Amino acid sequence: MAPSRVSRRFSSATTGIAEDGSPNFAFAFDIDGVLLRSSSPIPGASAALTHLHNNNIPFILLTNGGGKHESARVAELSKKLNIPLTEENFVQSHTPFRQLVEGSEETQSLEDKTILVTGGDGDKCRKVAEMYGFKNVVTPGDILMAHPNIWPFNQIFSDYYHNNTRPLPRPIDPANPSKSLKIDAIFVFNDPRDWALDTQIILDLLLSKEGILGTYSEKNGDPSLPNNGWQQDGQPKLFFSNPDLFWATSYHMPRLGQGGFQASLEGVWSATTDGAALRRTTIGKPHTHTYEYAEKLLIRYRAKLLGEPAKKVGKLDRVFMVGDNPESDIRGANEFKSPLGTEWTSVLVKTGVFREGSNPTYKPKVIVNDVLDAVKWALKQQGWNGQIQ
Ligand SMILES: [Mg+2]
Repeated sequence: MAPSRVSRRFSSATTGIAEDGSPNFAFAFDIDGVLLRSSSPIPGASAALTHLHNNNIPFILLTNGGGKHESARVAELSKKLNIPLTEENFVQSHTPFRQLVEGSEETQSLEDKTILVTGGDGDKCRKVAEMYGFKNVVTPGDILMAHPNIWPFNQIFSDYYHNNTRPLPRPIDPANPSKSLKIDAIFVFNDPRDWALDTQIILDLLLSKEGILGTYSEKNGDPSLPNNGWQQDGQPKLFFSNPDLFWATSYHMPRLGQGGFQASLEGVWSATTDGAALRRTTIGKPHTHTYEYAEKLLIRYRAKLLGEPAKKVGKLDRVFMVGDNPESDIRGANEFKSPLGTEWTSVLVKTGVFREGSNPTYKPKVIVNDVLDAVKWALKQQGWNGQIQ
């Protein structure tokens, strides 16, 4: 379906139109519990997106989900929702990790370093990380297959790991630390499938000297050092991509998500270190970093969608964040202070985590039934015709 020119079907209250006639607003949609529920489209989702697409109203998909490369997920979603989508308006929980291939203000380039990637089916997340540009990616499965005694209950998952592992670039050799496997950063890309092994290996690395597996830092527990010496000896930085404690699945009650794993690891860390803080970086909604990344992408996408050569696209005044999770979608939109002055308006739907009758800790601007009602409401707010066939 070819994009049509910008619709002029708006009321006299033309608050939603920039001077050049393009919409000065856009949407950000969560996926699970908003567009899909356990992989099936939620009624009205396709109609809502098709309407925006046909009217050249920009939108971005902003999910705390992940585990596959953006290209694969976009192809899958386009088919399910019957709408052409691209990677240019798509952000998954781990998409911002891409930036760390080249590095950021706080983190050196990790392109040639050795990173540990955990979570996801098989070693799909390793492949995603490699497609982002990380050159040396190790998984907990690789470590277990090379050193089965690193976790005593290794036989339970041995079939699972058998087909998804690769030889380690270096063995674990505590007698020769300079020749032993050294991990420079740890990335939790997706929900863990084997919480126990992932917990053990991440813990080992956080207790190690300089990320060398099989070593134990002498600084651990030293009260003369900051944080009592914990994570003070060049251990790898720890990154989480999705803080959601719960998410909506086909079960009738929300299930533990990657945030559950983070809380669990934090508990183990606290018990191991007698209450030391776990230093880590968490991205994903509601964290500002993810909203900043999403806004940048949305602005670039919008310019491409609305812009013509040599024509300047007007300012983006408002983004409607449509989500089902008050703790992530709504909180993130409410708390995000756009560096560009764009206003983020939160819209909560009832098709996912949020239950009718409950009192959300983070209050949305409005609560509506579903994504179709969310789009209709937002269009009316902007003075557009909210009728969608
Ligand atoms: Mg959701």
